[in-house]
Amino acid sequence: MFRTSKKKSRRSLIDWSLFAIGKGESRDAKVAREEREFSKAREIARCVAYKRAGGCCQRCGTRLVLQPSKARHEFEIAHAHEEPPRSKGGDPTNPRDIVILCFKCHDQVTTKKLAVVFVDPVLKADGRVEFVPKESRWREQSAGLGT
Ligand SMILES: [Zn+2]
Repeated sequence: MFRTSKKKSRRSLIDWSLFAIGKGESRDAKVAREEREFSKAREIARCVAYKRAGGCCQRCGTRLVLQPSKARHEFEIAHAHEEPPRSKGGDPTNPRDIVILCFKCHDQVTTKKLAVVFVDPVLKADGRVEFVPKESRWREQSAGLGT
């Protein structure tokens, strides 16, 4: 009366070949995968840096949100400033190379009115971060030496 294990042959709804990595992966697929992995790593580093900063701008202390969709105003969005920049050997997937800033402070840094100075060159953004006016380079250099 009761049949045991009435198995149906089900075909997978997922095309697993799309996830193929290694030998069978085309060059384009490899580039696309690496870009996805880089984006993901960058996003994780941004989240870690945001948590480390306590959700606030590391210069002025303004409370910020990570998700633009949760911001009531664009000034509330956390900006992840890469210091040093990639062109100077910075790694945007390393939270130590990311400083969380509000829109206004980020603007001051990107327009080069302010310089970001890491007091500890090893800890970088994990340690104390100072912002000095671009004119006073002697302070930037002395802070860079850890004095
Ligand atoms: Zn700020």
